[in-house]
Amino acid sequence: MAESADPPQMRWWGWGDPAHPGGLPAHVLGFLAEAVGLAEQPRPAVALSRVRLPAPALGETALGALREIVGEDGMREDHAARVLHAAGKGYPDLVRLRAGEPDGAPDAVLYPATHEHVRGVLEACTARGIAVVPFGGGTSVVGGVAPLRGEHQGVLALDMGRMGALHALDRTSLTVHVGAGVRAPTLERHLAAGGLTLGHFPQSFEYVSLGGCAATRSAGQASTGYGSIEKMVLGMRFAAPSGDIALKALPASAAGPSLRQLLIGSEGTLGVISELSLRVRPAPAERVYEGVFFEDFTAGVEAMRALAQEHAAPDVARLSDEPETRMSLALAGAGGLKGRLGRVYLGLRGYGGGCLAILGFEGAREEVATRRGRALELVRRGGGLPVGRSPGEVWRRGRFSAPYLRDELLTHGVMVETLETATQWSNVPKLHREVGRAIGEELSACGTPGLVMCHVSHLYESGASLYFTFVARVREEDPIGQWRTVKEAASRAIVDGEGTITHHHAIGRDHARWMSREIGGQGVAALAALKSELDPRGIMNPGKLLALSSRL
Ligand SMILES: Cc1cc2nc3c(=O)[nH]c(=O)nc-3n(C[C@H](O)[C@H](O)[C@H](O)COP(=O)(O)OP(=O)(O)OC[C@H]3O[C@@H](n4cnc5c(N)ncnc54)[C@H](O)[C@@H]3O)c2cc1C
Repeated sequence: MAESADPPQMRWWGWGDPAHPGGLPAHVLGFLAEAVGLAEQPRPAVALSRVRLPAPALGETALGALREIVGEDGMREDHAARVLHAAGKGYPDLVRLRAGEPDGAPDAVLYPATHEHVRGVLEACTARGIAVVPFGGGTSVVGGVAPLRGEHQGVLALDMGRMGALHALDRTSLTVHVGAGVRAPTLERHLAAGGLTLGHFPQSFEYVSLGGCAATRSAGQASTGYGSIEKMVLGMRFAAPSGDIALKALPASAAGPSLRQLLIGSEGTLGVISELSLRVRPAPAERVYEGVFFEDFTAGVEAMRALAQEHAAPDVARLSDEPETRMSLALAGAGGLKGRLGRVYLGLRGYGGGCLAILGFEGAREEVATRRGRALELVRRGGGLPVGRSPGEVWRRGRFSAPYLRDELLTHGVMVETLETATQWSNVPKLHREVGRAIGEELSACGTPGLVMCHVSHLYESGASLYFTFVARVREEDPIGQWRTVKEAASRAIVDGEGTITHHHAIGRDHARWMSREIGGQGVAALAALKSELDPRGIMNPGKLLALSSRL
């Protein structure tokens, strides 16, 4: 059953397939010009050859020793490979890459093909004092793959792309055992051939590796139904600098604190996940995605809570607030969603504004019919107006396309950034207000007033995630400073407002300073003690997760 597809190509300066056609429709440009303003001239990325990288710090002795471990075809030191591994896909990463000035680069990129290669690399790097940054799909939006060397003489990216084998499928137990570098689409394709699915569909689905998802505690768009990755990982093989850990695939265990859950979310700072055992499910025979309008956000939030607490939640549930609903309709354009929904949106039942929710149900035909019937009954009781399948289908078809839009907006001098949190239902309205206000005020203070939008998604019985998107003119003279000050204001509003600093994007470099607000000083010390045991020389992904953490 061994299969390992080549990792897909990725634009070095942005998102996705290099062959993806660019450009924005005129109505979108018109909307943005009016809402936030556009740059006078498009601003494309510089040519790849003009990207400036620091001179490699590692000499031939160190590189030769590493090449011996991974083989000739397991190492690259060329300009293109270093650029591709110089950053993830967060907003500041893209701003820097497009300008040809990434924040550092790995000295070389290693491509291990086996667990034993990984072990050899970690031992050699420990002995020589070389930092190692595990690199899955490279889609981190929190600086998780930033090539920071810390105190060390050099830094390597450890690209897991050659470790994507599909080792075994246990149809009786509904589990699959894979190499941690396997890309999500490769795994889904393979499972689909046998009538199965993992059900993990982050917006970055097309490029993520399952090891990266596990290392970041990722949540897919359908996590309300399928659960987030932490519920899917049953076992793993893990290589830490000080030794290996093998956790067998188990449905549950009471053997002390969960080491699995400590390694899930460890973000490459403790070691490398080399293999994973994952729970899978039968592929759904039926998929129904549809739209529901609510008079306002408050009514929509109450309906989402009822769905979660009365066990009628759809697999995908996303409730946009008023600004996000307006933006979605504007982007869909007169011929699309807006045209079909315009009458409902503007007229029916006297709704003058309103909020759109997308509900997606997946499963066996009868089970979907029963659950959907119950859900729509609750939605109607909460004042919701079902508006049919077309908004749901529009959303489903475009569910992985927003990242391409971000590149186009940057070309036109428009910043678009997202951040997320989660909180209890009783706190959702207040946190929504306060984080939105903090972002809006800080954008205005930067002289670039913008649009701030949010949706509720990932429903739980006790609460939900809030996902914010903001759009503004890029402050040309200091785009990174602009981003940093807005991010700081939003993060402070989140932790002051009792939200988590991240529901699924992880900590990485950008959120590390907020960790002590999240888990307390003693909590940080406990994780640091684990790191000292597994990675005594601190070579694993320096500057992430626990770094810079202070009492804020
Ligand atoms: C446009 C866009 C949309 C996104 N949407 C979502 C979303 O819907 N849900 C969501 O959860 N996230 C989302 N993300 C964030 C990102 O895709 C996730 O964090 C994802 O899980 C990262 O997977 P990756 O394979 O790309 O990991 P990488 O970005 O390569 O690495 C992420 C972190 O994990 C570590 N790591 C990677 N592989 C391993 C390994 N084998 N062993 C140990 N450590 C490892 C890295 O060192 C790094 O710290 C989005 C990102 C983008 C750019």
